[in-house]
Amino acid sequence: MGFETLREKLQSRQGAHFDVGLVERAYEFAAAAHAGQIRKSGEAFMTHPLAVAARLAEWRSDAPTIAAALLHDVAEDTPYTKKDIEKEFGSEVAFLVGALTKLKRIRYADSPARGTAERTENLRRMVLAFAEDIRVVLIKLFDRLSNLETIRFLDPASQARIARETLEIYAPLSNRLGMGELRGQLEDLAFPIAHPVEWTALQELVAEPLEDRRRYVERLIPEVQNLLTSEGLAPRDIHARAKHWYSLWRKLERLGGNLGEVYDLVAVRIITGSVESCYAALGAIHGRWPPLPGRIKDYIALPKSNGYRSLHTTVVGAEGKVTEFQIRTAEMHEEAENGIAAHWAYSEEAADAARKRGVRALARTRDLAWIRQLREWHENFQDAGEFLESLKLDFFRDRIFVFTPKGEVIDLPEGATPVDFAYHIHSDIGDQATGAKVNGKMVALDTPLANGDIVEILTQKNKKPSRQWLEFVKTSIARGHIRAALKR
Ligand code: MN
Repeated sequence: MGFETLREKLQSRQGAHFDVGLVERAYEFAAAAHAGQIRKSGEAFMTHPLAVAARLAEWRSDAPTIAAALLHDVAEDTPYTKKDIEKEFGSEVAFLVGALTKLKRIRYADSPARGTAERTENLRRMVLAFAEDIRVVLIKLFDRLSNLETIRFLDPASQARIARETLEIYAPLSNRLGMGELRGQLEDLAFPIAHPVEWTALQELVAEPLEDRRRYVERLIPEVQNLLTSEGLAPRDIHARAKHWYSLWRKLERLGGNLGEVYDLVAVRIITGSVESCYAALGAIHGRWPPLPGRIKDYIALPKSNGYRSLHTTVVGAEGKVTEFQIRTAEMHEEAENGIAAHWAYSEEAADAARKRGVRALARTRDLAWIRQLREWHENFQDAGEFLESLKLDFFRDRIFVFTPKGEVIDLPEGATPVDFAYHIHSDIGDQATGAKVNGKMVALDTPLANGDIVEILTQKNKKPSRQWLEFVKTSIARGHIRAALKR
C-alpha cells in the first residue's frame, strides 16, 4: 500500500483535533530513512509501517499515535535515533517510538535454554513498557498483527518465537483491552505455527460439523427475524458468528474434546437498538425455544472484567439443535469487537478531552481495572517472582505456566497434570513416565499442577502408559498419545 491509502483514511479528520501535517511529515521521514530496505516477503519496507498506521487510522487513533506507527522501526533499523525523532517531531512521538524500540529489544520467548529469572525479568520489562502509555500497546498489537501476516517468510525459529509470544502475551493483552476481534485474528494467525499438529487435527474434526452448523444457522436467522418482528421488536441486525479457531481449540481442551458440548460453534447474534429490547428479545427467544438451565448469562447486568457486555443463552432450537444466542446493543457490539479503541470512534472530542487529562482518565472511563493494576505493579513489586505470579493470575487466567528443570516455560490449561506436562515435552517422555517431582517433591501423576511449578518427570525405558491416565489428563495432546500407545 502507499501513503495515498492512509491519507484517504485521514481525510475526514483534518481539523483542530487532528494534525494531518504531523502524519505527513512522519511518513516523509520514515520513507526516506527506510529507503531501499526490503522485507523478507520481498515488499518495500514501508509497506509494514504503513499497514500498522492504516489500521490505527481506522481505529481513529490520534495523530501522534499514527505518526509513531509510521516511525516505529526507524530507531531500530536505520541510522536515525530517538533524539533525531524528538528534534523533528517533539517529545510525545519520540516517547512512543522509544518505548516501541525498547520493546523490540526484549525477547520474551527466545530460547528454552534461558533461565527462568531472565525470562521473568524480560516479561517484567515488557509490562513496564506497556504500562507507560496505552498507545504503546495499541501500536505494538497492530505491529504484531502485520508481522504475523508475513510470518511465513521468516526462518522457523523466529516463526516459533513470534507465534508463542503472540499466544502468551499479545493475545491475552488484546483480550484484557476488550479487543475481541483483534485477539481472534492474532490467535488464529499464530495457532497453526505454534501448534501445527493440533491445528490440523482441529480442521479435520470440525470441518463438517462447522459447515452443517453454518447452514443450520442460516436457515434459523429468517425464523428469528420473523419471531422478533411479530413481537414488535425491530433488531438492527441478526448474523451468524463462527467461533475463532484457537478459542475453539481451547474450549475443546476444557471439554475433553467433546465437540457436541460446544454450543457456540456457530452462534446467532442479535444486535438491538436498546438495552430494553435485548431483554425483550431474550424473552421472545425463550418463549419460542426452551432454554437450557444454567446457561443464561447476563453480562449486561454483570459485565466481564474486560468490559464485555451481552446476553447469552443456549436453547433447544429448531430441528432440536442446541444453539447459542448472543444479544446486545449496537454500542455493546462495537465495544466487544474493538474494546478500548471503540471510544475513540464514538467521540473524537471526548477522547481528546480524556487524553488531555492523561491516559489514566481514559482507562478510568472504561473502568478497566487491570490497566490501573498494571500501572501500580511496577511501583509495588520489588520481587520479580511475586510480580510474575500476580501477572499470571490476572493475564493468563485460564492457562498455567510451569517450568522444566532447565527453566523452559510450558503452557498448559488449568488443572493439567504431570502426565499432560510429560506429553508436552515429548511423546516418549509421556509414554515412559513412572513418576513426577514438583518443586523437588515426589507427587502422584494425577496431581493438578499450579502456576510456577517446576516439574521433573521420572521415566523408565519400555514402560507403557496406563489406561487410567485417560481419566485425568486435561490436554488433547496427552489423550491422543495415550490412546495411540494403548492401541500398539
Ligand atoms: Mn514493526
